[in-house]
Amino acid sequence: MKTFSKNLFWAIATFILITIVFSLLFNLGTQKPPVLSINEVVKKINAGEVKSIAVSGDSLELVLQDESKAVSQKEEETSLTETFSNFGVESQALQSVELTVKEEGGVRFWLGILIPTLLPIIIIVLIFWWIFRQAKTGVNQAFSFGKVNLKLFTPSRKKTTFKDVAGLKESKEELEEIVDFLKSPKKFLDIGARIPRGVLLMGPPGTGKTLLARAVAGESNVPFFHISASEFVEMFVGVGASRVRDLFKTAKKASPSIIFIDEIDAVGRERGAGLGGGHDEREQTLNQILVEMDGFDRDTNVIVMAATNRPDILDPALLRPGRFDRRVILDMPDINDREAILKIHARGKQLDKSVNLKAVGVRTPGFSGADLANLVNEAAILAAHSNRKHITQNDFFESVEKVMLGPERKSRVVSEREREITAYHEAGHALVAASLKDSDPVHKVSVVSRGIAGGYTLKLPTEERRLKTKAQFLADLAVAFGGYAAELLKFKDLSTGSSNDIHQATALAHRLVTQYGMSDKLGPRTFGKTQEMVFLGREISTEKDYSEEVASQIDEEVNSLINKALSAAKRIVSTKRRVLEKIAKTLIEKETLEQKEFYKIIKSFKLRPVRVVG
Ligand code: ADP
Ligand code: MG
Ligand code: ZN
Repeated sequence: MKTFSKNLFWAIATFILITIVFSLLFNLGTQKPPVLSINEVVKKINAGEVKSIAVSGDSLELVLQDESKAVSQKEEETSLTETFSNFGVESQALQSVELTVKEEGGVRFWLGILIPTLLPIIIIVLIFWWIFRQAKTGVNQAFSFGKVNLKLFTPSRKKTTFKDVAGLKESKEELEEIVDFLKSPKKFLDIGARIPRGVLLMGPPGTGKTLLARAVAGESNVPFFHISASEFVEMFVGVGASRVRDLFKTAKKASPSIIFIDEIDAVGRERGAGLGGGHDEREQTLNQILVEMDGFDRDTNVIVMAATNRPDILDPALLRPGRFDRRVILDMPDINDREAILKIHARGKQLDKSVNLKAVGVRTPGFSGADLANLVNEAAILAAHSNRKHITQNDFFESVEKVMLGPERKSRVVSEREREITAYHEAGHALVAASLKDSDPVHKVSVVSRGIAGGYTLKLPTEERRLKTKAQFLADLAVAFGGYAAELLKFKDLSTGSSNDIHQATALAHRLVTQYGMSDKLGPRTFGKTQEMVFLGREISTEKDYSEEVASQIDEEVNSLINKALSAAKRIVSTKRRVLEKIAKTLIEKETLEQKEFYKIIKSFKLRPVRVVG
């Protein structure tokens, strides 16, 4: 835009200059001699003042005896002598005047014709020229979009190494081979080994895929070309494939090197699965990646790494041998890994001596590496905000809940009545959880509002687990109704505080029946096919693959699960009403009960957990 206005300025300036030059030329040629009428000319001739007259067309140029000049105009279409005789010039006087007839023409004549006609044309041509020049640079810019916007991590930057990656032992071992190859390819080639071309990192978001890829680059000390797959397809249709070509060309020139394509599912979705027109572009890009990977010679020392959290939707062609044949799976961190990740991120931070990161690890099941990194930062912010020099254990615990549930809102004004309702509600959840064998133990109960919740009961599993049983789900369902049952028992009334519990419980019951095959009546099958709509990338439609009859059976089963859970919750709170009262009263008084305080109350009543009656 800036260059355009600059050019426009020059265009106008040149135009003005040309105009000035031409008007000067004209003015120089005509030194504005006085204009005389024919009568005056005749008078001057008769008086013998005129030396010569030059006729050119209808205009007369006179030179007088004193060498001064004058111009005049004769009548059109008549000869000069005729005019003069008409006006009564004496022939004697005329004889002493030198008469010449000039051919009309010459430079001035031609300029007089050409300038008015040519100048606009020239100006128009110039303007067009400028416009085209503009357009051309625009087009060039458009073509440069085909050039890939590479991010190159050179070893000069702060290096990431395997030491910066906690846990993920197997994944690291797998990648060490790659590092070894990049460091000394000859060793592998001499023995005749075929080098893996593609490594696919798969795992949930935040588990460290990008981090691990960087660590490989840092360890092997080779150029590392980093691009997010979504950058292949942006703005212009058709640039994806050319960007891929460009990327591979650059990487080959720099070999040995690593190409890292992050979030490859953006282009690597199964071909032909798209809706709308957008997928053509993806397909071409994907095809180009496949072509480039096939085009590697045996001794091309370029390794393509890619990361995705959706391996299930990748095109099978990508996973074929010779392409991304190495697959590295990254799991969510387990308790030991969590501690290790916390340690890595706590490096360089001022921790209080009392801090026990293992205890933080215990409280954070389901946290990804990214969540944990965030957690440590939150704890540091918390400590700094209260002007402390060191991060305490409590800062960490506080941040766990903040990351999980949102910030505490102690200042929210709550009426006595609402506080009481919340206390009984949370006491209900906690009591039911403590009374059931298959429920996770209660870690904390609180009536301090947090995020959008009025209060909360925090349950955490005692051990790592990847599977969950039907008994555990049923216990969860009953706990979900604990608040509802307690409110009903205490106040003979219900509040909106249970709406989220009910929502969660209904969704869970529905999943038990339709997805986990945990309904006795309907048996082990799934109901409903969720279809992925590619253009939104989310499950948005569920195809019904069962009859109306089955639909009503599903409803019945969901209802029956919910009713059983509710009556279990009701039974617990009413038979242990005294415990409920005690928990609720303590909550009103203290706001928050930690695990130890809570179980002290439970033990004082000699409560023993039971199984949910199915
Ligand atoms: P993704 O798998 O989504 O690519 P990232 O690699 O971007 O996840 O991880 C995000 C951040 O989480 C990293 O920058 C790092 O700080 C932290 N992180 C994740 N996993 C680990 C890990 N295993 N060890 C140390 N830090 C980790
Ligand atoms: Mg990533
Ligand atoms: Zn609740």
